[in-house]
Amino acid sequence: MAIPPTSTESDPRPSSTDPGIDVAGVEVGAGGFTLIAGPCTVESRDQTLAVADAVAGDAAMLRGGAFKPRSSPRSFQGLGHEGLEILREARGRTGLPIVTELLDVRDLEDVADVADVIQVGARNMQNYPLLTELGGTDRAVLLKRGLAATLDELLMAADYVLDGGNPRVILCERGIRSHEPAYRFTLDLLAVPALKERTSLPVLVDPSHAPGRREWVEPMSLAAAAAGADGIIVEVHDDPENALCDGRQALYASEFAGYADRVRRVAEIAGRDVAVAV
Ligand code: PEP
Ligand code: MN
Repeated sequence: MAIPPTSTESDPRPSSTDPGIDVAGVEVGAGGFTLIAGPCTVESRDQTLAVADAVAGDAAMLRGGAFKPRSSPRSFQGLGHEGLEILREARGRTGLPIVTELLDVRDLEDVADVADVIQVGARNMQNYPLLTELGGTDRAVLLKRGLAATLDELLMAADYVLDGGNPRVILCERGIRSHEPAYRFTLDLLAVPALKERTSLPVLVDPSHAPGRREWVEPMSLAAAAAGADGIIVEVHDDPENALCDGRQALYASEFAGYADRVRRVAEIAGRDVAVAV
């Protein structure tokens, strides 16, 4: 039987010497823990600013989609450019760097003008022309794992951005399709240590989309922190019952501070220097 490795090379604990990625003064990776929170979708100015205010004390960045990849073309597609302006206002008001999705390469300039981190959604993980274009920007890229992508495919997708000259790529596990219909996706937390063995790129976990139900978001968040994730990107809403997208999985904004505290505690146990952007 093989003797378990003991060298520091295979020590999965975070090291403060891991190269981090600087996002407007927030270090992602490098032994820290980055909590990104916000609504699935920018629905209105009031909603976005309310959520931004609610998470500002505990989150290091604000997420929110202006361009939404919806399974049905009849579902709300996001506010588009109007949504980007709302995110700009939220950034100015809270100081939180913005994470928002780019769907169409034609919107790259406008999205990059507001976004500190450009999100590539699961459905676009293998959109190679989009990835190639992002290789030429100076914005960090959050690359979400495709619905049926292997880790090899995720890493090769990241190579498109890296080889294009942009070294600031953050990977994100968000759940994959499995035979199990009891939840939307199967959150593959083994991806965290498995990716960390193969890359020094930061690895985040999205604990919202796999459960599809808010009750399961916190357990998956705590598990992600315990698994060694460099951070979490989670959906939060001030009025989930009336959300236009993903309301059933959104944490209540009023409960976010307690959630963040519990996640930080587990991240600390996992050896993280807990980073808060305030
Ligand atoms: C989202 O972050 O709201 C989203 C659509 O994520 P994914 O691409 O992982 O489904
Ligand atoms: Mn969503």
